[in-house]
Amino acid sequence: MSQMQASPSTMRSPWIPVVTGIVYGLLGLALAAGGVWLVALGGSFYYVIAGIGLAVSGALLIRRLRAALWVYAALLIGTLAWAIWEVGFDWWPLAARGDVLFPLALWLLCPLVTRNLTDAPPSAWRATTGPLWVGVAASVVVLAIGLFSTYHEIDGKLDVADALVVEILDLDLHYGNGTAALAATRPYLTVLAVYGNDYHANVAYRDVTVRRHEDGLNHWSVALQAGCDGRCLNEILDQHLPRLVQFGKPDLLLYQAGADPLQDDPYSPLALTHHDLLVRDRIVFEFARRHSLPTAWVLAGGYTRDTAKVVEVHLNTFRAAAVVFGGDG
Ligand SMILES: [Zn+2]
Repeated sequence: MSQMQASPSTMRSPWIPVVTGIVYGLLGLALAAGGVWLVALGGSFYYVIAGIGLAVSGALLIRRLRAALWVYAALLIGTLAWAIWEVGFDWWPLAARGDVLFPLALWLLCPLVTRNLTDAPPSAWRATTGPLWVGVAASVVVLAIGLFSTYHEIDGKLDVADALVVEILDLDLHYGNGTAALAATRPYLTVLAVYGNDYHANVAYRDVTVRRHEDGLNHWSVALQAGCDGRCLNEILDQHLPRLVQFGKPDLLLYQAGADPLQDDPYSPLALTHHDLLVRDRIVFEFARRHSLPTAWVLAGGYTRDTAKVVEVHLNTFRAAAVVFGGDG
C-alpha cells in the first residue's frame, strides 16, 4: 500500500506529537489569555479565537489524533482571511500576522509528526494533511501577492512602502491606549504620549500620580501632573522630544495636537492657556523642521461649553505651522 517505508525509529516516536501538542497547547492558552486582555481594552476578538483554536489543536495532538491538523488548517485559513480583511494585501502587516502560525503549520506536516499519529496511516496522508496543505499554499500565494503588489503606491507621489517608520506624538490630554496597543504589534510605529489624564479599560483617570498602563519598547508615555503650566510642559517637551529621533529619522511624524489639555476644558486638571498651547505647537513644529521630519497633524479633543475656545486652540495650531513652515511658500 504505502509507497515509502519510514524507518522504524521514525515510526516509533509517539512522544513527538505529544510534546508538540503540549507546546502548541501552552502557546494557545497564552495567546487566548492575552486576547482576553486585549478584548477588555476594546481590541479584536481574533486572538481569543486563535488561542482557543491553537489550544484545541494542541490537545488533539497530545491524544495523537489527526483532527489536530484539521483544526490547525481552519486556524491558518481563518487567520489568512482575517489578515486580508484587516490589512489587505500589504506585505509587512501580513507577515507579522503569519510569522508564528506558518512555521508551526510546516512542522505539523513533517512525517515525524504525521507518522506518529494513531489514526493516520501513511496510506491516508492525503486526508490527514490535505486541508493543512491547502492553508499553507494559500498563505504562500497571499504573501507573494502582498510582496509583489504595488499596494502602497498612491498616485506615484507618496510611496508609503518606504515610509516604514512612523512616529506618533500624542499631546492630547488623554493617554492614547489604543495607539499604544497598535504600536505594540507594529514595530514600524513609535509612539510618545504626553498626557494629563490616564486612560485605562475605557475609564479616564484625572489622577496621574498612579500609572495604570505600561510602556513598551516602542511606545512611551509621560504624565503631566495636575496644575502643570506652560513652563512645565515645555520642559517635558524639551526633555522627551529627542526620543522621537533616537532610532534615527522617522519617515513621517504624526502629531496629535489635542485641544483638551486647555485649562478651560472640563476634563483638564492642567493650567495651560491658549498661549501655552500655541507655544507647544511651535516647539513641536520647530523640532520637526530642525530634524526635517515630514509632519502631518490632526485636531483632537476639546470639550469646553464655549466651542470658540476649542476652535481657538486649533486655529493656533495652524498659526504655529504657518510661522514655522510658512517661509517655504
Ligand atoms: Zn482627549
